Amino acid sequence: VASAPDAVPEPAQISPALLHRSLHQQPYKVTSAKGLYLTLSDGRVVMDACGGAAVACLGHGNEEVLAAVTAQMSTGVSYLHSLTYTTDVAEDLAHHIIDGPHGAGRYGLERAYFVNSGSEAMDAALKLARQYFFEKGEPRRTRFVSRKQSYHGTTVGAMNVSSNLPRKVPYANFQSENFSWVTPAYAYQYSNWEAGETEAEFAERLVEELDLHIRTLGPGSVIAFIAEPLVGATSGCTPAPKGYFRGVRDVCDKHGVLLILDEVMCGMGRTGTLFAFEQEDIVPDIMTMGKGLGGGYSPVAGVLVHKKIVDVLRKGTSSFNHGHTYQAHPVGCAATLAVQRILRREGLVENVARLGRWLYPFLLETFGSAKYVGDIRGRGLFWGIEFVGDKVTRAPFPPAVGFGVRYQATCFELGVAVYPGSGTVDGKKGDHAILSPPYNVSEVELRRIVEVMKKAYD
Ligand code: PLP
Repeated sequence: VASAPDAVPEPAQISPALLHRSLHQQPYKVTSAKGLYLTLSDGRVVMDACGGAAVACLGHGNEEVLAAVTAQMSTGVSYLHSLTYTTDVAEDLAHHIIDGPHGAGRYGLERAYFVNSGSEAMDAALKLARQYFFEKGEPRRTRFVSRKQSYHGTTVGAMNVSSNLPRKVPYANFQSENFSWVTPAYAYQYSNWEAGETEAEFAERLVEELDLHIRTLGPGSVIAFIAEPLVGATSGCTPAPKGYFRGVRDVCDKHGVLLILDEVMCGMGRTGTLFAFEQEDIVPDIMTMGKGLGGGYSPVAGVLVHKKIVDVLRKGTSSFNHGHTYQAHPVGCAATLAVQRILRREGLVENVARLGRWLYPFLLETFGSAKYVGDIRGRGLFWGIEFVGDKVTRAPFPPAVGFGVRYQATCFELGVAVYPGSGTVDGKKGDHAILSPPYNVSEVELRRIVEVMKKAYD
């Protein structure tokens, strides 16, 4: 079990030849990993309680996934261009996700499209949605509506629908009037709780806001509304209030607007059902998936497309006007199929739901009365703790305090990696930490993780 060294060594220096994400911060160098544990180049062992960014759903170094990758490589078919060729492994993966009693096909989501990152999946989703209306003879639909304080990725399309303001500052030239944002379903910070607004009233207000927003933009001008069923990185595992997504679906249907759900972070079992939308009593027209899809064993993400869109594209003048060199990469598909088969065979999604029911009361018991813990929320194995400077007013710490980043660093020093969130977006966001361990984590390990997190807080 991870333990805190007496003196914390400096993180390893990285080669100046590598353009790392941060030019100011030294990352930690990892030399090996197994299950929940990462070994750093300085010999320390850290419990990976967040799987990077909710990615490593099986933990690290799974032998069965390694064997599947090796087997695919040994056929000699490690790369084929997806325009000309297909492979059994890509088709088997699509069948695994679409067909059968667990499949997305039950909801009319009948095709899977595999790409290499969540951002690419989002761009593909936006283009599919636009092409749907283009083929239908409604080219005047040009607008996308999403939510404030959202993150949908880093490529230009995904960035444009995101409202992660600090990250977008240098790229204002990419923006256009075709992108706009409504209030997020983030009750802790955006509901009128001081005035006694209930969650149901909050949900109703947001649905009315969306309806008005679409009417103001002009019915017939909006392509799609985009949302994460349970918001991950930008607000710390925030589920929507009950009834919100039902209302959103009805508004979209009323205006003929498509509903795109971004399940890149919260999907593929993370919240205790294979698809997060299954807990919302709705079905999206397009859904994106990533992270837990391949569990980090391959850079893979995907898009699930509803029959109604497939039918229009099939009758249309062209095929889907999109594609990547490494789309449906055979080795990536082999790793992904192995991950998904293990999840199903070992009942790991059910395990997520079971552990989530145990974890929530334990988090409440451990952190509930802590002075700076404003909210604890999530589902399954996807939990956020929001830290605020003032619990009475819910006011976040001033950004200069850097509470989230400092908290993450302290957890790390004590041997637990959590995913951080900090900084203020639209003046509303408290710092938070995300706990998203692998689906096969044990109760003992989870208990230890939460105890270390509390020690770091103290
Ligand atoms: N959508 C959501 C909800 C995400 O959390 C992320 C990444 O954090 C993305 C999209 C983009 O995925 P990727 O980083 O794989 O491009």
